[in-house]
Amino acid sequence: MLYNTLGKTGLEVSRLGFGTMRLPTVNSNSQINEKEASEMLKYGIENGINLIDTAYPYHNDTLEGSGNSERFVGKFLKENSLRDEVLISTKSPSWAIETKQDFNMYLDEQLEKLQTDYIDIYLLHSLTVPDWEKVKNLDVLDFLDDCLSSGKVKHVGFSSHIEVDYLIEILDEYSKWEVVLTQMNYLDEYYQSGVMGLNYLKEVNVGSMIMEPLRGGRLVQNIPKEVQEIWDMAETKRTPVEWALQYLWNRDDVDCVLSGMTSLEQVKDNVRIASTEDIISDYDQEIIREVARTYRTFMGNRCTRCGYCMPCPHGVDIINCLTEYNIAHMMGDPKASAMQYFTLIDDDSRADSCIDCKECLPFCTQMLNIPEELVKVHEYFGSEFDHF
Ligand code: SF4
Ligand code: SF4
Repeated sequence: MLYNTLGKTGLEVSRLGFGTMRLPTVNSNSQINEKEASEMLKYGIENGINLIDTAYPYHNDTLEGSGNSERFVGKFLKENSLRDEVLISTKSPSWAIETKQDFNMYLDEQLEKLQTDYIDIYLLHSLTVPDWEKVKNLDVLDFLDDCLSSGKVKHVGFSSHIEVDYLIEILDEYSKWEVVLTQMNYLDEYYQSGVMGLNYLKEVNVGSMIMEPLRGGRLVQNIPKEVQEIWDMAETKRTPVEWALQYLWNRDDVDCVLSGMTSLEQVKDNVRIASTEDIISDYDQEIIREVARTYRTFMGNRCTRCGYCMPCPHGVDIINCLTEYNIAHMMGDPKASAMQYFTLIDDDSRADSCIDCKECLPFCTQMLNIPEELVKVHEYFGSEFDHF
Protein backbone atom coordinates (compact mmCIF):
# COMPACT_ATOMS: atom_id res chain seq x y z
CA MET A 1 0.00 0.00 0.00
CA LEU A 2 1.19 3.53 -0.72
CA TYR A 3 0.47 6.40 1.65
CA ASN A 4 0.02 10.17 1.45
CA THR A 5 -0.05 12.92 4.06
CA LEU A 6 -3.60 14.19 4.48
CA GLY A 7 -2.96 17.92 4.25
CA LYS A 8 -2.45 19.77 7.51
CA THR A 9 -3.81 16.88 9.61
CA GLY A 10 -0.34 15.37 9.23
CA LEU A 11 -1.99 11.93 9.15
CA GLU A 12 -0.35 9.35 6.90
CA VAL A 13 -3.32 7.81 5.12
CA SER A 14 -3.47 4.91 2.73
CA ARG A 15 -4.16 6.41 -0.67
CA LEU A 16 -7.10 4.01 -0.91
CA GLY A 17 -9.79 4.63 1.71
CA PHE A 18 -12.50 2.05 2.42
CA GLY A 19 -15.91 3.56 1.61
CA THR A 20 -18.75 1.75 3.40
CA MET A 21 -21.85 2.94 1.57
CA ARG A 22 -22.00 0.04 -0.89
CA LEU A 23 -21.24 -2.97 1.29
CA PRO A 24 -22.80 -6.30 0.25
CA THR A 25 -26.36 -6.69 1.53
CA VAL A 26 -29.07 -9.30 1.88
CA ASN A 27 -32.67 -8.44 0.87
CA SER A 28 -32.49 -4.68 1.47
CA ASN A 29 -29.93 -1.88 1.65
CA SER A 30 -30.20 -1.72 5.44
CA GLN A 31 -29.30 -5.39 5.89
CA ILE A 32 -25.54 -5.61 5.49
CA ASN A 33 -24.14 -9.05 4.75
CA GLU A 34 -21.88 -8.89 7.79
CA LYS A 35 -19.92 -12.04 7.05
CA GLU A 36 -18.87 -10.89 3.58
CA ALA A 37 -18.40 -7.27 4.61
CA SER A 38 -16.17 -8.36 7.53
CA GLU A 39 -13.97 -10.41 5.20
CA MET A 40 -13.63 -7.41 2.93
CA LEU A 41 -12.69 -5.01 5.71
CA LYS A 42 -10.30 -7.52 7.23
CA TYR A 43 -8.51 -8.04 3.93
CA GLY A 44 -8.33 -4.29 3.32
CA ILE A 45 -6.88 -3.50 6.74
CA GLU A 46 -4.45 -6.43 6.68
CA ASN A 47 -3.21 -5.13 3.36
CA GLY A 48 -2.63 -1.57 4.44
CA ILE A 49 -5.90 0.38 4.27
CA ASN A 50 -5.97 2.60 7.35
CA LEU A 51 -8.96 4.85 6.67
CA ILE A 52 -12.60 3.74 6.80
CA ASP A 53 -15.23 6.20 5.68
CA THR A 54 -18.86 5.98 6.70
CA ALA A 55 -21.78 8.36 7.37
CA TYR A 56 -24.89 8.65 9.52
CA PRO A 57 -27.39 7.57 6.81
CA TYR A 58 -25.34 4.95 4.89
CA HIS A 59 -27.09 1.60 4.55
CA ASN A 60 -30.57 2.71 5.40
CA ASP A 61 -33.68 1.91 3.36
CA THR A 62 -34.51 5.58 2.85
CA LEU A 63 -32.26 8.50 1.97
CA GLU A 64 -32.54 9.88 5.50
CA GLY A 65 -32.47 8.50 9.02
CA SER A 66 -29.93 6.40 10.86
CA GLY A 67 -28.20 3.78 8.69
CA ASN A 68 -26.42 0.56 9.59
CA SER A 69 -23.01 1.28 8.06
CA GLU A 70 -21.70 3.06 11.17
CA ARG A 71 -23.18 0.33 13.36
CA PHE A 72 -21.48 -2.39 11.33
CA VAL A 73 -18.10 -0.58 11.26
CA GLY A 74 -18.23 -0.08 15.04
CA LYS A 75 -19.11 -3.70 15.68
CA PHE A 76 -16.44 -4.99 13.30
CA LEU A 77 -13.67 -2.86 14.80
CA LYS A 78 -14.67 -3.77 18.34
CA GLU A 79 -14.91 -7.51 17.70
CA ASN A 80 -11.55 -7.55 15.93
CA SER A 81 -9.83 -5.09 18.32
CA LEU A 82 -8.92 -2.91 15.37
CA ARG A 83 -10.13 0.52 16.49
CA ASP A 84 -6.60 1.81 17.08
CA GLU A 85 -5.33 0.47 13.76
CA VAL A 86 -7.55 2.64 11.58
CA LEU A 87 -8.81 6.16 11.14
CA ILE A 88 -12.58 6.57 11.13
CA SER A 89 -14.10 9.25 8.96
CA THR A 90 -17.81 9.86 9.35
CA LYS A 91 -20.27 12.65 8.66
CA SER A 92 -22.82 14.81 10.43
CA PRO A 93 -26.16 14.87 8.54
CA SER A 94 -26.15 18.64 7.92
CA TRP A 95 -29.52 18.56 6.12
CA ALA A 96 -31.22 17.11 9.23
CA ILE A 97 -29.88 19.65 11.73
CA GLU A 98 -32.71 21.90 12.94
CA THR A 99 -31.51 23.12 16.36
CA LYS A 100 -28.15 23.73 18.05
CA GLN A 101 -28.73 20.64 20.21
CA ASP A 102 -29.03 18.45 17.13
CA PHE A 103 -25.31 18.65 16.40
CA ASN A 104 -24.41 16.95 19.66
CA MET A 105 -27.37 14.61 19.54
CA TYR A 106 -26.17 13.18 16.21
CA LEU A 107 -22.51 13.13 17.24
CA ASP A 108 -23.26 11.22 20.46
CA GLU A 109 -25.44 8.74 18.59
CA GLN A 110 -22.65 8.23 16.03
CA LEU A 111 -20.02 7.65 18.73
CA GLU A 112 -22.33 5.06 20.23
CA LYS A 113 -22.99 3.36 16.89
CA LEU A 114 -19.27 3.30 16.15
CA GLN A 115 -18.47 2.05 19.68
CA THR A 116 -15.69 4.58 20.08
CA ASP A 117 -14.82 7.62 22.22
CA TYR A 118 -13.57 9.69 19.31
CA ILE A 119 -13.89 10.17 15.59
CA ASP A 120 -10.71 10.87 13.64
CA ILE A 121 -12.27 12.87 10.82
CA TYR A 122 -15.74 14.40 11.21
CA LEU A 123 -17.26 15.97 8.12
CA LEU A 124 -20.37 18.04 7.65
CA HIS A 125 -22.09 15.82 5.13
CA SER A 126 -22.99 16.93 1.62
CA LEU A 127 -22.92 20.62 2.45
CA THR A 128 -25.09 22.72 0.16
CA VAL A 129 -25.06 26.51 0.18
CA PRO A 130 -28.47 26.77 1.98
CA ASP A 131 -27.42 24.12 4.51
CA TRP A 132 -24.17 25.96 5.16
CA GLU A 133 -26.11 29.18 5.89
CA LYS A 134 -28.50 27.23 8.12
CA VAL A 135 -25.82 25.51 10.19
CA LYS A 136 -23.82 28.72 10.48
CA ASN A 137 -26.86 30.39 11.98
CA LEU A 138 -27.01 27.50 14.45
CA ASP A 139 -23.39 28.20 15.48
CA VAL A 140 -21.85 25.17 13.82
CA LEU A 141 -18.38 26.65 14.17
CA ASP A 142 -18.77 26.79 17.98
CA PHE A 143 -19.90 23.17 17.86
CA LEU A 144 -16.84 22.18 15.82
CA ASP A 145 -14.54 24.10 18.21
CA ASP A 146 -16.11 22.20 21.13
CA CYS A 147 -15.73 18.84 19.34
CA LEU A 148 -12.03 19.50 18.83
CA SER A 149 -11.35 20.77 22.35
CA SER A 150 -13.25 17.92 24.00
CA GLY A 151 -11.32 15.36 21.94
CA LYS A 152 -14.50 13.73 20.64
CA VAL A 153 -13.28 14.67 17.16
CA LYS A 154 -9.66 14.92 16.03
CA HIS A 155 -10.05 16.69 12.68
CA VAL A 156 -12.97 18.47 11.03
CA GLY A 157 -14.01 19.10 7.47
CA PHE A 158 -16.92 18.81 5.09
CA SER A 159 -18.06 16.87 2.08
CA SER A 160 -19.75 18.65 -0.74
CA HIS A 161 -20.86 18.71 -4.35
CA ILE A 162 -20.82 22.52 -4.59
CA GLU A 163 -19.20 24.73 -7.20
CA VAL A 164 -15.66 25.97 -6.64
CA ASP A 165 -16.60 29.56 -5.64
CA TYR A 166 -18.71 28.30 -2.74
CA LEU A 167 -16.11 25.73 -1.79
CA ILE A 168 -13.51 28.47 -1.45
CA GLU A 169 -15.93 30.73 0.41
CA ILE A 170 -16.66 28.03 3.00
CA LEU A 171 -12.98 27.11 3.34
CA ASP A 172 -12.07 30.73 3.95
CA GLU A 173 -14.66 31.14 6.70
CA TYR A 174 -13.06 28.74 9.20
CA SER A 175 -9.36 28.25 9.79
CA LYS A 176 -9.76 24.80 11.38
CA TRP A 177 -10.98 22.92 8.32
CA GLU A 178 -8.45 20.18 7.70
CA VAL A 179 -10.17 17.83 5.26
CA VAL A 180 -12.59 18.15 2.35
CA LEU A 181 -14.28 15.26 0.59
CA THR A 182 -15.03 16.17 -2.99
CA GLN A 183 -16.07 14.43 -6.21
CA MET A 184 -13.41 13.80 -8.84
CA ASN A 185 -12.69 11.41 -11.68
CA TYR A 186 -11.37 11.97 -15.18
CA LEU A 187 -14.83 12.94 -16.44
CA ASP A 188 -15.46 15.49 -13.70
CA GLU A 189 -12.49 17.82 -13.95
CA TYR A 190 -14.83 20.75 -14.60
CA TYR A 191 -17.91 19.45 -12.78
CA GLN A 192 -18.79 20.77 -9.30
CA SER A 193 -15.61 22.16 -7.68
CA GLY A 194 -13.43 19.96 -9.93
CA VAL A 195 -9.72 20.57 -10.47
CA MET A 196 -9.90 24.20 -9.36
CA GLY A 197 -11.25 23.07 -5.99
CA LEU A 198 -8.50 20.49 -5.62
CA ASN A 199 -5.86 23.07 -6.55
CA TYR A 200 -7.19 25.39 -3.87
CA LEU A 201 -7.20 22.64 -1.24
CA LYS A 202 -3.57 21.97 -2.07
CA GLU A 203 -2.75 25.67 -1.86
CA VAL A 204 -4.22 26.01 1.64
CA ASN A 205 -2.93 22.57 2.71
CA VAL A 206 -6.37 21.11 3.43
CA GLY A 207 -6.42 17.33 2.97
CA SER A 208 -8.35 16.06 -0.03
CA MET A 209 -10.42 12.91 0.01
CA ILE A 210 -12.07 11.89 -3.25
CA MET A 211 -15.51 10.41 -3.78
CA GLU A 212 -16.96 8.91 -6.96
CA PRO A 213 -13.56 7.91 -8.42
CA LEU A 214 -15.33 5.42 -10.70
CA ARG A 215 -18.52 7.47 -11.08
CA GLY A 216 -20.50 4.92 -9.08
CA GLY A 217 -18.91 2.13 -11.15
CA ARG A 218 -20.02 3.53 -14.50
CA LEU A 219 -16.45 4.18 -15.69
CA VAL A 220 -15.66 0.50 -15.37
CA GLN A 221 -18.82 -1.31 -16.43
CA ASN A 222 -20.28 -1.78 -19.91
CA ILE A 223 -17.45 0.13 -21.54
CA PRO A 224 -18.69 1.48 -24.90
CA LYS A 225 -16.84 0.08 -27.93
CA GLU A 226 -15.73 3.61 -28.89
CA VAL A 227 -14.10 4.06 -25.48
CA GLN A 228 -12.41 0.66 -25.46
CA GLU A 229 -10.85 1.37 -28.86
CA ILE A 230 -9.18 4.45 -27.36
CA TRP A 231 -7.93 2.59 -24.28
CA ASP A 232 -6.42 0.02 -26.65
CA MET A 233 -4.23 2.75 -28.19
CA ALA A 234 -2.44 3.47 -24.90
CA GLU A 235 1.25 2.78 -24.39
CA THR A 236 0.59 0.78 -21.23
CA LYS A 237 -2.36 -1.59 -21.07
CA ARG A 238 -4.54 -1.00 -17.99
CA THR A 239 -7.96 -2.14 -16.87
CA PRO A 240 -10.67 0.57 -16.67
CA VAL A 241 -10.32 0.51 -12.87
CA GLU A 242 -6.56 1.00 -13.13
CA TRP A 243 -7.07 3.93 -15.51
CA ALA A 244 -9.58 5.63 -13.22
CA LEU A 245 -7.63 5.16 -9.99
CA GLN A 246 -4.14 5.81 -11.33
CA TYR A 247 -5.42 8.98 -13.03
CA LEU A 248 -6.29 10.25 -9.54
CA TRP A 249 -3.13 9.04 -7.84
CA ASN A 250 -1.03 10.72 -10.51
CA ARG A 251 -2.44 14.06 -9.31
CA ASP A 252 -0.42 15.73 -6.57
CA ASP A 253 -3.57 17.39 -5.16
CA VAL A 254 -5.26 14.07 -4.31
CA ASP A 255 -4.47 12.57 -0.91
CA CYS A 256 -6.95 9.73 -0.43
CA VAL A 257 -9.40 8.10 -2.82
CA LEU A 258 -12.46 6.53 -1.24
CA SER A 259 -13.86 3.52 -3.00
CA GLY A 260 -17.25 2.14 -2.00
CA MET A 261 -16.49 -1.53 -2.50
CA THR A 262 -19.11 -4.28 -2.76
CA SER A 263 -17.11 -7.50 -2.97
CA LEU A 264 -13.88 -9.05 -1.73
CA GLU A 265 -12.75 -9.29 -5.34
CA GLN A 266 -13.04 -5.50 -5.69
CA VAL A 267 -11.13 -4.93 -2.46
CA LYS A 268 -8.32 -7.19 -3.65
CA ASP A 269 -8.16 -5.49 -7.03
CA ASN A 270 -8.21 -1.97 -5.58
CA VAL A 271 -5.59 -2.82 -2.95
CA ARG A 272 -3.35 -4.25 -5.67
CA ILE A 273 -3.71 -1.08 -7.75
CA ALA A 274 -3.19 1.20 -4.73
CA SER A 275 0.02 -0.65 -3.93
CA THR A 276 1.47 -0.13 -7.40
CA GLU A 277 3.37 2.98 -8.43
CA ASP A 278 2.20 3.65 -12.00
CA ILE A 279 3.25 6.87 -13.71
CA ILE A 280 0.88 7.87 -16.48
CA SER A 281 2.84 9.25 -19.45
CA ASP A 282 1.91 12.46 -21.28
CA TYR A 283 0.68 10.34 -24.18
CA ASP A 284 -1.54 8.29 -21.88
CA GLN A 285 -2.84 11.50 -20.25
CA GLU A 286 -3.97 12.46 -23.76
CA ILE A 287 -5.64 9.03 -24.08
CA ILE A 288 -7.58 9.76 -20.88
CA ARG A 289 -8.68 13.15 -22.25
CA GLU A 290 -9.81 11.48 -25.48
CA VAL A 291 -11.84 8.91 -23.51
CA ALA A 292 -13.48 11.75 -21.57
CA ARG A 293 -14.28 13.58 -24.83
CA THR A 294 -15.81 10.38 -26.23
CA TYR A 295 -18.01 9.85 -23.19
CA ARG A 296 -19.23 13.43 -23.61
CA THR A 297 -20.47 12.71 -27.13
CA PHE A 298 -23.12 10.52 -25.49
CA MET A 299 -24.56 13.49 -23.57
CA GLY A 300 -28.26 14.35 -23.83
CA ASN A 301 -27.68 18.01 -24.81
CA ARG A 302 -24.80 20.36 -25.57
CA CYS A 303 -24.80 22.33 -22.32
CA THR A 304 -21.23 23.22 -21.42
CA ARG A 305 -22.06 24.49 -17.91
CA CYS A 306 -20.77 27.94 -18.87
CA GLY A 307 -23.35 29.55 -16.57
CA TYR A 308 -24.33 32.47 -18.81
CA CYS A 309 -28.02 31.59 -18.46
CA MET A 310 -27.89 31.88 -14.67
CA PRO A 311 -29.46 33.00 -12.44
CA CYS A 312 -32.91 32.08 -13.69
CA PRO A 313 -35.35 34.73 -12.37
CA HIS A 314 -37.66 31.90 -11.31
CA GLY A 315 -35.05 29.99 -9.39
CA VAL A 316 -34.49 27.07 -11.76
CA ASP A 317 -31.05 25.52 -11.33
CA ILE A 318 -30.64 25.26 -15.10
CA ILE A 319 -27.03 24.10 -15.07
CA ASN A 320 -27.46 21.22 -12.68
CA CYS A 321 -30.79 20.09 -14.16
CA LEU A 322 -29.19 19.84 -17.59
CA THR A 323 -26.01 18.32 -16.18
CA GLU A 324 -27.70 15.46 -14.35
CA TYR A 325 -29.71 14.71 -17.52
CA ASN A 326 -26.48 14.68 -19.51
CA ILE A 327 -24.69 12.46 -17.07
CA ALA A 328 -27.57 10.00 -17.08
CA HIS A 329 -27.26 9.70 -20.87
CA MET A 330 -23.49 9.66 -20.90
CA MET A 331 -23.15 6.97 -18.25
CA GLY A 332 -26.34 5.04 -19.05
CA ASP A 333 -27.34 5.09 -15.38
CA PRO A 334 -30.59 7.05 -14.90
CA LYS A 335 -31.07 5.84 -11.34
CA ALA A 336 -27.73 7.23 -10.10
CA SER A 337 -28.39 10.58 -11.80
CA ALA A 338 -31.95 10.66 -10.45
CA MET A 339 -30.55 10.23 -6.97
CA GLN A 340 -28.30 13.27 -7.55
CA TYR A 341 -31.12 15.22 -9.20
CA PHE A 342 -33.55 14.73 -6.32
CA THR A 343 -31.05 15.09 -3.50
CA LEU A 344 -28.78 17.88 -4.73
CA ILE A 345 -31.34 20.14 -6.40
CA ASP A 346 -34.05 21.71 -4.20
CA ASP A 347 -37.73 21.05 -5.05
CA ASP A 348 -38.31 24.56 -6.34
CA SER A 349 -35.13 24.61 -8.44
CA ARG A 350 -35.86 21.46 -10.45
CA ALA A 351 -36.83 21.46 -14.12
CA ASP A 352 -40.60 21.54 -13.47
CA SER A 353 -40.25 24.99 -11.87
CA CYS A 354 -39.53 26.48 -15.30
CA ILE A 355 -42.47 28.68 -16.37
CA ASP A 356 -41.26 29.01 -19.98
CA CYS A 357 -40.74 32.77 -19.71
CA LYS A 358 -37.83 32.42 -22.19
CA GLU A 359 -35.77 35.10 -20.44
CA CYS A 360 -32.73 32.79 -20.44
CA LEU A 361 -32.82 32.06 -24.17
CA PRO A 362 -30.69 34.99 -25.41
CA PHE A 363 -27.91 34.07 -23.02
CA CYS A 364 -27.32 30.46 -23.98
CA THR A 365 -23.91 30.18 -25.59
CA GLN A 366 -24.91 26.85 -27.16
CA MET A 367 -28.22 28.15 -28.63
CA LEU A 368 -30.13 25.61 -26.56
CA ASN A 369 -33.87 26.03 -26.21
CA ILE A 370 -33.51 25.84 -22.44
CA PRO A 371 -37.21 25.54 -21.47
CA GLU A 372 -37.66 22.73 -24.01
CA GLU A 373 -34.60 20.96 -22.62
CA LEU A 374 -35.99 21.35 -19.11
CA VAL A 375 -39.25 19.70 -20.17
CA LYS A 376 -37.18 16.74 -21.38
CA VAL A 377 -35.33 16.66 -18.06
CA HIS A 378 -38.58 16.62 -16.11
CA GLU A 379 -40.09 13.90 -18.28
CA TYR A 380 -36.91 11.85 -18.04
CA PHE A 381 -36.53 11.89 -14.28
CA GLY A 382 -40.27 11.83 -13.55
CA SER A 383 -41.10 12.03 -9.89
CA GLU A 384 -39.00 11.07 -6.91
CA PHE A 385 -41.44 8.29 -6.19
CA ASP A 386 -40.57 6.57 -9.47
CA HIS A 387 -36.95 6.16 -8.43
CA PHE A 388 -36.84 5.35 -4.75
S1 SF4 B 1 -37.48 29.83 -19.42
FE1 SF4 B 1 -37.43 28.65 -17.55
S2 SF4 B 1 -35.29 28.42 -17.09
FE2 SF4 B 1 -35.44 30.07 -18.59
S3 SF4 B 1 -35.52 31.93 -17.36
FE3 SF4 B 1 -37.64 31.29 -17.72
S4 SF4 B 1 -38.18 30.02 -15.97
FE4 SF4 B 1 -35.95 30.23 -15.98
S1 SF4 C 1 -25.90 29.17 -21.11
FE1 SF4 C 1 -26.50 27.29 -22.20
S2 SF4 C 1 -24.62 26.10 -22.28
FE2 SF4 C 1 -24.28 27.67 -20.74
S3 SF4 C 1 -24.91 26.73 -18.80
FE3 SF4 C 1 -26.71 27.75 -19.60
S4 SF4 C 1 -27.79 26.16 -20.76
FE4 SF4 C 1 -25.71 25.44 -20.45
